[in-house]
Amino acid sequence: MIQSVLLSALAFAQRGHAVFPVNWPLEHRGRMICSCGRDLRGLLCGNPAKHPYGKLAPHGLLSATTETDIIKDWFGSLAPQANLGVTTDRLVVIDVDPRHGGGESFSALEREHEIPLTWRVLTGGGGEHLLFACPDGVEIANVVAELIKPPLEPPLGRGIDIRARGGYIVAPPSRHISGRWYCWSVDHHPADVTLAPAPDWLVARLTARRSSHFRPTFGRSSRSNRSPNIATTPRPGLLATSSARRATTNLSWAYCAPGIRKRASRRSTTKNSTRSSNALPSAKPRASKLNSKGANNDICAATV
Ligand SMILES: [Zn+2]
Repeated sequence: MIQSVLLSALAFAQRGHAVFPVNWPLEHRGRMICSCGRDLRGLLCGNPAKHPYGKLAPHGLLSATTETDIIKDWFGSLAPQANLGVTTDRLVVIDVDPRHGGGESFSALEREHEIPLTWRVLTGGGGEHLLFACPDGVEIANVVAELIKPPLEPPLGRGIDIRARGGYIVAPPSRHISGRWYCWSVDHHPADVTLAPAPDWLVARLTARRSSHFRPTFGRSSRSNRSPNIATTPRPGLLATSSARRATTNLSWAYCAPGIRKRASRRSTTKNSTRSSNALPSAKPRASKLNSKGANNDICAATV
């Protein structure tokens, strides 16, 4: 596990996506708590195991880097147990949260639009991240669907957030506060699948906000708002994306053992079914690419 977080961090960084260490879950007296320790001090961590690790990333997103030596220090020696935060300045990430109706909303999107083959992550919380490269010159804001109240509607529906410039995601092989792992979907792994550009329909829906269909959140995600450690410097308004480009796949990525072959087969057989809010499908590891420990602890076998 320790090595795989480092490898995954390096792989993201070498594609130009800055990374930083994120707090992680700890087991304490039979329950999982955030490593920030707020729970132990009688305080509430509002974003457990998802906010920047202040000791190494004191400025939150602004501490993120693509520098190999720093990343090796962070994830190789100083905090090898940390979760992995990846900035989404060059990405557009559809964040499906089934707890708030994201499954139904995403099913509706699938019926209405073609979803390009791209990287997908099964989050430890039962949701899913779909990653796309942000086209050059396109301005896309972060969206927290829960904060958009009727009659306004989120651009992709209830329960679907957007992570883009000024935001970040927690990436594999991080561990969710539930104790489960963030895993690459087996059929959408970066080693096999190219990061697709955000499709035109998605860009159109996410840039139509000026026509008042919804109220975006500018530059600061709910995660950053709740984070006790993250830099609070806002990024007002919509900022142009940097030169996002189609990623190559010449680097090796960390494979997570309980990778899940989920989406393609489900679409073909139960296209209109409702997603379970928290049950992860049974694990189906990539046997040919797992090491001997992979089945139990998500150790990733690839090397950079
Ligand atoms: Zn915390």
